Amino acid sequence: MTVIQSSGPARELTAESRGEGVHIRGVRKAYGTVEALKGVDLDIAASQFTVLLGPSGSGKTTLLRGIAGIERFDVGSVHFGDKLISRGSHHLPSERRGLSMVFQDYALWPHMTVRQNVAYAIRRQRLGATAAELRVVEALDRVGLSAKSAAYPHELSGGQQQRVALARAIVGDPPLVLFDEPLSNLDADLRERLRVEIATLTRASGATALYITHDQAEAFALADQIGVLNQGRIEQLGTPEQIYQAPATQFVARFTGLGGSFVGKYVGDRGGYGQVRVGEHQLRCVPSSTVARHIDVELLIRPTASRLLPRPEGWPTSASENLEDIEATIVDVAYRGRGYDHVVDCAYGRLVGVFDVQAWPRGTRCLLRIEPDGCLAFPAEDRATRSNSR
Ligand code: ADP
Ligand code: MG
Repeated sequence: MTVIQSSGPARELTAESRGEGVHIRGVRKAYGTVEALKGVDLDIAASQFTVLLGPSGSGKTTLLRGIAGIERFDVGSVHFGDKLISRGSHHLPSERRGLSMVFQDYALWPHMTVRQNVAYAIRRQRLGATAAELRVVEALDRVGLSAKSAAYPHELSGGQQQRVALARAIVGDPPLVLFDEPLSNLDADLRERLRVEIATLTRASGATALYITHDQAEAFALADQIGVLNQGRIEQLGTPEQIYQAPATQFVARFTGLGGSFVGKYVGDRGGYGQVRVGEHQLRCVPSSTVARHIDVELLIRPTASRLLPRPEGWPTSASENLEDIEATIVDVAYRGRGYDHVVDCAYGRLVGVFDVQAWPRGTRCLLRIEPDGCLAFPAEDRATRSNSR
């Protein structure tokens, strides 16, 4: 049991025990002929931070609203811990689910002050006036907004309004907090700072969190577990590392960040990796479970997998000498603070986001080396998923 000292009287935060697991089985939801959810299973452990990542229209909000009880699923069940929340005609009303939500548009009451907005969230908790006031003060303190407690939402910036919404979400110590793209309306630097606050405050509270976003960087930064949603289905559920290093489908690989792709033929295994012939070259790769010898494959290349090397004098000396390094030309270079991202062309296609701490000037001829760990081979006919990836 963790005891967190706050500015008010010491209050025991049972961080390990407060969060509640969420268990979803076979949920479906259609709006007329649009199938927003086509059978989703999802397990979230107590106090875990899960992010659902997917493009616009993939069903994220529908799933979250169903869990919140704002919407009813057509079929399937929802349990919080052992408790049945919804199945068939059984449907626990939203306000009795013991959860809170943070929305993209803040959803604060415009006619209430900051303090009143936060206090409203615990109006049903039968706390004495003093205890309730202390809770509100403490929650505002935790999001750094004590000084603004008498202000109205319209007097605050977007970031401050979202902090109020965050204070409101955690003030009642709910076992489950749901986030629907809470950072989408904010500027980049603020988004980064508030993301850290959401992660630390939610984790410190011990609540279970389900957070939805279309932004892969946000998902990777926040999540203990990521579910990638595509057209109403979860295509993969795993840790950020599993999703990045071993994407289950082309869609997951593309949606979580590619530098580019080449086509080739799978020739077999080599040294714990797969091997693909691309034009004159033999590249090592991580094969998906669906590739087999002699089939055409698509190599999906993570931006982090490419390296630039100087082209030695007199290259190429002999075509057979080096089968992994590919002759390339720098097309563009962009300063990124920590170094430079390059756009690079070679005979097999274009790669973007090729990082180096030094800048390679436009037009430079160089060699491109692709690390096998970020080079993912999928059957080339698996293209159906491709058109949905952007
Ligand atoms: P996301 O949050 O991932 O962008 P949504 O859950 O909002 O996706 O939407 C999933 C699909 O369901 C989309 O095709 C969307 O147009 C449709 N949809 C969502 N809500 C409604 C609604 N109230 N009426 C009709 N169609 C809807
Ligand atoms: Mg949405």
